[in-house]
Amino acid sequence: MQAPGRRDASAEQPTIVLIEDDRHIAELVDLYLRNTGYRVLQAGDAARGLELIDQHHPILVVLDIGLPGGMDGIEACKQIRSTSDVPIVILTARDDEVDRVIGLELGADDYLTKPFSPRELVARVRAVLRRTDRTARPSTQPRTVGGVTVDGLRREVTVNEEVIALTAREFDLLAHFVEHPGIVFSRQQLLDSVWGAGWFGDERTVDVHVRQLRRKLGDELPLTTIWGVGYRCG
Ligand code: CA
Repeated sequence: MQAPGRRDASAEQPTIVLIEDDRHIAELVDLYLRNTGYRVLQAGDAARGLELIDQHHPILVVLDIGLPGGMDGIEACKQIRSTSDVPIVILTARDDEVDRVIGLELGADDYLTKPFSPRELVARVRAVLRRTDRTARPSTQPRTVGGVTVDGLRREVTVNEEVIALTAREFDLLAHFVEHPGIVFSRQQLLDSVWGAGWFGDERTVDVHVRQLRRKLGDELPLTTIWGVGYRCG
């Protein structure tokens, strides 16, 4: 407990919880994030990470998939998502884990495949935070396409007046579609517009997110696959 009137300067910096058991990677990521102005709290296993998230309400979580102690990053991600919409950036050890990671409906906001440069991680973290910063978004009138209504200001999606929970990226992709009804977009165009020009992932990421939107919004979403080209909504 601190004395009244005394303030912990580090507590005023935005906090990121880093859950990574590899000490070398953790220290490197920690250093880069701290130099960027974040306060970093490290956990070497999922249980400790969940504790830190609970206690410190971070603005973002960086989460390794391969973790010791009986709970891996996939299970930890599910647990975090059951109580919180804090942005999550996943670290995966192998490229072939990527499908598993993004296909598992984890609700993560982005992922990086090891080895990655810490500089790239910082760029991703900033991009995710920019996207998920509700106050930074312009206010817009709600738009409806098919049976789906998207309220850009409240970042809320409703179908038949029922609110549908989407990840930040799913929301941004859907918002992009409803702002451009009837326009056919290639996967690369969607990556550029929704993921941003600094994003280096591949096009199947778009397919995974489209699948998620279709699964969550069902027939109310008039989203058409244009074979060999991309997608069109409305
Ligand atoms: Ca690991």
